[in-house]
Amino acid sequence: MIRVIVIGGGIIGSSVAYHLIIGGAQVTVIPGNDPGGSATKKSFGWINAAEQDNREYFEFRLAAMSDWHRLEKELDGLIRLNWNGSLWWESKPKIVEQTVDQLSSWGYPIQLVSRKEARTIEPSIAYCPEYVAHANTEGSVSPDNVAQLLLDRAVSLGAIIRPGVADSLIFKGGRVVGVSISGEQLSGDEIIIATGACANTLLAQANVRLPINKRSGLLAYSYRMPTILNGIILAPGIHIRQLYDGRLIAGRDFSGAGFATSSYSDEAQLIASEACKLLGPGHFDLADFSIGVRPIPDDGLPAIGRISNAPGLYVLVMHSGITLAPIVGRLTADEIIHGRSIDLFEMYSIERFLK
Ligand SMILES: Cc1cc2nc3c(=O)[nH]c(=O)nc-3n(C[C@H](O)[C@H](O)[C@H](O)COP(=O)(O)OP(=O)(O)OC[C@H]3O[C@@H](n4cnc5c(N)ncnc54)[C@H](O)[C@@H]3O)c2cc1C
Repeated sequence: MIRVIVIGGGIIGSSVAYHLIIGGAQVTVIPGNDPGGSATKKSFGWINAAEQDNREYFEFRLAAMSDWHRLEKELDGLIRLNWNGSLWWESKPKIVEQTVDQLSSWGYPIQLVSRKEARTIEPSIAYCPEYVAHANTEGSVSPDNVAQLLLDRAVSLGAIIRPGVADSLIFKGGRVVGVSISGEQLSGDEIIIATGACANTLLAQANVRLPINKRSGLLAYSYRMPTILNGIILAPGIHIRQLYDGRLIAGRDFSGAGFATSSYSDEAQLIASEACKLLGPGHFDLADFSIGVRPIPDDGLPAIGRISNAPGLYVLVMHSGITLAPIVGRLTADEIIHGRSIDLFEMYSIERFLK
């Protein structure tokens, strides 16, 4: 039986661990100081394929959305997914029209709806343009709950959690054969680095440096309130949805382009006031905020796979890791257990950065 050590307990490490154990591998997970994941816990949790620049990446994300439905069934409905879709608009309607045309020509279920229809979908919005985009198959999830659920399920099927932080990789004859953790040595046939924005700490020991654009993202949370939103709203300067516990969660910018204000609390206040413009005064009472680091490989695409100079090592670093976790976990397990090379992973090979 192949022995795999998964370093990282965010949604990517947890998903890989779960899929490896159901595929028949022997699995040890080292979750680090942030079981449940560092970026994962501070993520907006939007599941989507709204990618218009790259057709292959769009298709990958579309397949990822199906994999969420598969995982939802596999985990007996324990994951609380919301599949109520999204409404999206920009200050320039042309951009929305063009994107809707393009994505729908690729088969994405997205269409323009009138203001009246938009208000039927989301009765609480105080304003929106005459036409907005509606993507009715998009979803959202609380990612840290899923990561924990996947880890728990993996443990119930025999995975071992070794609490702590992986200090170093162990090499033998040029191959990575294990991990050192607080002086203890664990050996494995494959070592997976799923440590998000921290990936380079361990990769450096294999003389590898992955260009990661670590952009911060701030999310503001309201106090709990009665349900006012069904799905996700993406409007200029604000994206927002409601969590199962009644809190609203909102951010300002998906690209991580930076903050508009000089302090985090001002930024959170700004988001709260944008939310109140969207939903009406008094509808977003700021309770808290979080700041997460987005693990974005330099070209924006996932970095996945083996490194030819460091056999035994397998790396997984990506943004949109929430959308991608189920498919990436399933296919990685397939590649590692069956030694198959995965066509869908080809364009995301980490080797593209190492030439
Ligand atoms: C503000 C924000 C909003 C986002 N919104 C979305 C969204 O709407 N949709 C979407 O798809 N994606 C979104 N993302 C991106 C998504 O959250 C990430 O792509 C995803 O969480 C990455 O998961 P991960 O498991 O790779 O990393 P992380 O969640 O960062 O987990 C890394 C894990 O590695 C562990 N670790 C680190 N070093 C070590 C070590 N030496 N030894 C052992 N363990 C170690 C940590 O303890 C942690 O458990 C967002 C991100 C942010 C910050």
